[in-house]
Amino acid sequence: MQHKILLPEDEMPDKWYNIQADIEVPPPLNPATKKPIEAKDMQPIFPKEFLHQEMSRQRWIEIPDEVMEIYAIWRPSPLYRAINLEKYLKTPAKIYYKWEGVSPPGSHKPNTSVAQAYYNANEGISRLTTETGAGQWGSALAFACQFFGLECTVYMVKCSYEQKPYRRILMQTWGAEVVPSPSDRTEFGRMIREKDPETPGSLGIAISEAIEDAVKHEDTKYSLGSVLNHVLLHQTIIGLEMKKQLEMIGEKADVICGCVGGGSNFSGGIFPFIPDKLKGEEIKFVAAEPKACPSLTKGIYTYDFGDTAKQTPLLKMYTLGHNFIPPAIHAGGLRYHGDAPALCKLVNDGFVESVAYYQTEVFEAAKIFTQTEGFVVAPETAHAVKAAIDEAIRCRESGEEKTICFVNSGHGHFDLAAYDAYNNGLLKDYEYPEELIKEAVKELQ
Ligand SMILES: *Cc1c(COP(=O)(O)O)cnc(C)c1O
Repeated sequence: MQHKILLPEDEMPDKWYNIQADIEVPPPLNPATKKPIEAKDMQPIFPKEFLHQEMSRQRWIEIPDEVMEIYAIWRPSPLYRAINLEKYLKTPAKIYYKWEGVSPPGSHKPNTSVAQAYYNANEGISRLTTETGAGQWGSALAFACQFFGLECTVYMVKCSYEQKPYRRILMQTWGAEVVPSPSDRTEFGRMIREKDPETPGSLGIAISEAIEDAVKHEDTKYSLGSVLNHVLLHQTIIGLEMKKQLEMIGEKADVICGCVGGGSNFSGGIFPFIPDKLKGEEIKFVAAEPKACPSLTKGIYTYDFGDTAKQTPLLKMYTLGHNFIPPAIHAGGLRYHGDAPALCKLVNDGFVESVAYYQTEVFEAAKIFTQTEGFVVAPETAHAVKAAIDEAIRCRESGEEKTICFVNSGHGHFDLAAYDAYNNGLLKDYEYPEELIKEAVKELQ
């Protein structure tokens, strides 16, 4: 039986799929006027091409040759059949995973960072700023910037900066400057530190700092690793390749699972299958998130800011409130208060289901995966593994021979401390208390 389904290099898709051709994504609003923002409002932050991609209704968007050439370092990525996991679970289902851990930074994130670095360099920008949680996004951007001669400043959430030195070293090795956030580099960072010197930081705060830095420097733009339409667009390379790989072996997905932080890897995996679903095909999409940061399962669907300092436009999304500071769980990349508006729209319309898990059950699933399939997955990805395993167990109980796919968003080689904690029974479960969520979202309603 075949473990690995490889797409020939010359069959790599050369266009991204734009979901906005097929669904209406609520537009970002200008917080002052409550009207849809105009491209010029965003020009201090993003290059022109993104503003175009953010709002475009064009179904297919050409991937520039320069981006294709760098993608070719690790793409097309393999699709694996998880044969040993199937056997272990005694499920009649088939399980496939799209392995994004083969990229040099080890996750799906360079699918967009390379595109972002390219467009910025092309428009004469010399430095990019960004935030990073667990360090995956920062390292993906640091990796991409070098190819196009860009400087890179990464505001890294303080608790991750302290917990994950290896990601910091990786970013610095790729030439980036890494600053723990909140920092004293920005007005906003200084203010937060004064109020709460012990804060673990949050993605919301780090985003605010990175934006402030970009706005205050002419040659500098800001780069976001998830949530926005153009990021999800670049990630559709995942689902487009997966679709071709399934076709190559005569398979059709019945279920696609993925983990959701801001929603980019999961959206990238499922969006190319949405037109089939809209045509009435039966395919189930499952978004998995932590119970410690349950935006899709417990948040409210409303307009909210993307960052703590309220510098971003208002985005229509499932949110826990822009002041939400999630507990320091190991899946740092899933600690974001909101989710991509395009994905939230699909959840709200009932096209995508969502589920939330505890930390320990997620690591239990990851360990089963490692012991059957061999790869050590990132703690974020472990949520997708858990969702796929749950689906496969349901098939065992019902006898259904479904085809279950999941996006395996990255490896966990820099997260071994988290595995160590799990192996030694030290991992704590945490569910964000309902009352606190209600309080956090009260001011939004
Ligand atoms: C960043 C990250 C995530 C979460 O981000 P999304 O935008 O939701 O994809 C998931 N898995 C890995 C490995 C990551 O690095």
